[in-house]
Amino acid sequence: MPNRDRYEFASDNTAAICPEAWAALTEANEGAVSSYGDDRWTTRVCAQICELFETACQTFFVFNGTAANALALAQLCRPFQSVLCHEHAHIETDECGAPEFFSGGSKLLRVSGTNGKIDLTEAAEVIARQPELHSPKPRVISVTQATELGTVYTPNDLEAVATFAQKHSLHVHMDGARFANAVASLGCRPKEITWERGVDVLAFGGTKNGTAAGELVVFFDRELAREFDYRAKQGAQLASKLRFIAAPWAALLSDDVWLKNARHANEAATELAHQLGAILAFPREANALFLRLPDEKVAQLHARGWHFYKFIEPDIYRLMCSWSVTERDIADFVADFRS
Ligand SMILES: *Cc1c(COP(=O)(O)O)cnc(C)c1O
Repeated sequence: MPNRDRYEFASDNTAAICPEAWAALTEANEGAVSSYGDDRWTTRVCAQICELFETACQTFFVFNGTAANALALAQLCRPFQSVLCHEHAHIETDECGAPEFFSGGSKLLRVSGTNGKIDLTEAAEVIARQPELHSPKPRVISVTQATELGTVYTPNDLEAVATFAQKHSLHVHMDGARFANAVASLGCRPKEITWERGVDVLAFGGTKNGTAAGELVVFFDRELAREFDYRAKQGAQLASKLRFIAAPWAALLSDDVWLKNARHANEAATELAHQLGAILAFPREANALFLRLPDEKVAQLHARGWHFYKFIEPDIYRLMCSWSVTERDIADFVADFRS
């Protein structure tokens, strides 16, 4: 019989709201407060982000990661320009054409690369194949940190991306739906994998880290941020009761809760990989593991109530950990996996 208490390894967005974010919602749920971001929580988050990144960046709130990516890319690209991204990039595979839609036509140019990271040699070939005038003009390179395949770009990797971007006059966009997991994994300062390495704009994810909703679009180049508030509003992304998105973010950014949550998720994935003892399809560097599994094994685990899904055909499955997975969840899964 499927057991309803099984942990959902399908994604890290299956988790509940973390206690700190929940407490912040309760605390913010008092009285009448000015709307549309004219509140103390919103002001606080913008200041916290500047402090965290050690620079005077500009922060905007949107409802989800798709909006963060699509609107950020639209801001960087004119409709006849294009975006280089990995073939497994969320913007390419999971956003229903939102980047193309909100940019008014900017084409995504797919590049392959091992372990979810863009192969810059191939990226150069893709650019070289764009005959002048007849193809959209490459304008942005988008990297995902941590990647869709559970790896992370090191500061050196990003240095290479920055050099490439500079050479080809590209802006750098970072899809940081799991930015926290990347920082936790690398043990670096956030600036070392963003603006110090040429990142112009970061979509900073909170949902998978422990909030209910709401992602940040952080511009490190303030000129690029110009009138983004209008773009976000037109894109239906301006919350009137913004305090309820900002307050949980303020909680994540206080006392390093965001890092604590990410570390927990990463460590849980390490532990799960260790206990399973299985060979991984990609190096485990953040909070996900990818395993090649036979259909019968998957059917058995699904029948026992475990939820996870195939990420890459024909047989690579993803197990994703979050702030909320427990040692008990891992032990139970491993026991079923072995039996
Ligand atoms: C989850 C995720 C997003 C955001 O997805 P939404 O469902 O739109 O919030 C963006 N990029 C990556 C890599 C993701 O995993």
